Amino acid sequence: MQRHHDDDVSEIVEVARRAYGHRLAPGTSGNVSVRSHGDGDNQFLISASGTSLGYLQPQDVVPFPSGGMQDRQPSSEVQLHAALYRVLPRAKALLHYHGTWTILAAEACAPEKQWRPSLALPEFAAFAAESAVGVVSAFPAGSCELAREAASCARQFGAWGLILRGHGGITWGQSPQQALFHAETLESAAQIDYLISGRKEISRC
Ligand SMILES: [Zn+2]
Repeated sequence: MQRHHDDDVSEIVEVARRAYGHRLAPGTSGNVSVRSHGDGDNQFLISASGTSLGYLQPQDVVPFPSGGMQDRQPSSEVQLHAALYRVLPRAKALLHYHGTWTILAAEACAPEKQWRPSLALPEFAAFAAESAVGVVSAFPAGSCELAREAASCARQFGAWGLILRGHGGITWGQSPQQALFHAETLESAAQIDYLISGRKEISRC
């Protein structure tokens, strides 16, 4: 069934608020996008810069590229989203989040380029076919280097998301809701792993 622009905006708003409510996007951090339908593969709608996901309104969702003048600017991480849509044809939506446990998991396995939880969690097996998630090196938020490195990492690993070292995570799916489920899965797995590993042994990856 063909989806419509208004459906996409509504779903972005709902998922944004839930991500904020689940402590995945404190303050004005985090952003959500949906690939446009029928407008070309690499066009998408994304939450605007400077907005809190917890208070996102439909007018805070903007197209990228804009194709003209618009009052609101897209999220500062728009290049990260654009780069991932280019290399992930199955991704219909993306959620970038700042989850505490996801950040800690990346620190725990530094300087490894992938993170693998020690427990074989069933939901994580569905999230990451190889039971490992790529970890993108630390680059400034919003930078082209971060976008380029994330795209390269996404091509390498068969998971539904990536960890951004010292920053958070980015997940994708067939819809914003599925991208949120994947973020929750990664955050939960990271929390369980961190707690059971104990801080003395967190160098294991
Ligand atoms: Zn961020």
